[in-house]
Amino acid sequence: MVQRTPQRTWRVNPLFGMLAASNCSPCALTGHLAPLRPESLMLSRSLKEQGLGLVCTPATIYCESCYSPSVHSIPFPFTELNRSLAPNDRRHGPSGYSEYSSYKPWLRDEYDFRCVYCLAREAWDLNATSAASGFGVDHMRSQHDAPDEVTNYDNLCYCCNECNRQKGAKSLPERLIKEPLATHLRFNEDGSVEALTKEGAWLRDCVFLAHPEAVQRRQLILDLRSAAMADLAAGHDSPKARMFQYPSELENLATRNPPKNSRMAGLEDSAWARRERGELSRFF
Ligand SMILES: [Zn+2]
Repeated sequence: MVQRTPQRTWRVNPLFGMLAASNCSPCALTGHLAPLRPESLMLSRSLKEQGLGLVCTPATIYCESCYSPSVHSIPFPFTELNRSLAPNDRRHGPSGYSEYSSYKPWLRDEYDFRCVYCLAREAWDLNATSAASGFGVDHMRSQHDAPDEVTNYDNLCYCCNECNRQKGAKSLPERLIKEPLATHLRFNEDGSVEALTKEGAWLRDCVFLAHPEAVQRRQLILDLRSAAMADLAAGHDSPKARMFQYPSELENLATRNPPKNSRMAGLEDSAWARRERGELSRFF
């Protein structure tokens, strides 16, 4: 049984053992709360027997997602996107902006706030002046090779400024666009990277994924992940853990109102919408 940080007020409603809506301590979600701790149930029974309907106690409440044992298992952060970069794998479909930079908020969400090439995350950019300042929009087929696709959302992806600079004006091999990147590259638990195809080798070399400093950065991230998991297992939330979470500030893309949107259903699949519904995982 994992020890929880005893730091939260909560409510007992007239239904025995049920907690009324409040905020989950780790993720601050409202609602979808479950009194899963046996000691919480015992405490609420005791308080109800004393006629107390609203109490403050030194107990912590958790949404079902955060309470899950997986809270102490942060996924391997260099798992490649299983999706391809192809249009038929996109969740969003805005169009009509005159500047390709206008698509950046959509691409952030599309690619989970990380670089599609090196998988670095916004949260790992310690020099960032804002959440996305170290990231930009890249043209998979370059502006030179595909001038008609300069402002076509389906030709854009999200990447860190360093990968963007290294890739420069080159176009991606078509297989890298149409097939899942995991088909072409694999990142290992020791921080190394393997090319599985010649296109994977092209990308590895294009953005210097196998450079010793890049490998060292991944090893550092993996060390931080281990330390974050140890903190969580000890009941301490920590800044390290936030490096493996979604941004605390998420944007409701529905308020952007692009000239057109061919994939309206994607709005419900955005990180903001999933967090609103209590469906966004804590770590990714
Ligand atoms: Zn990158």
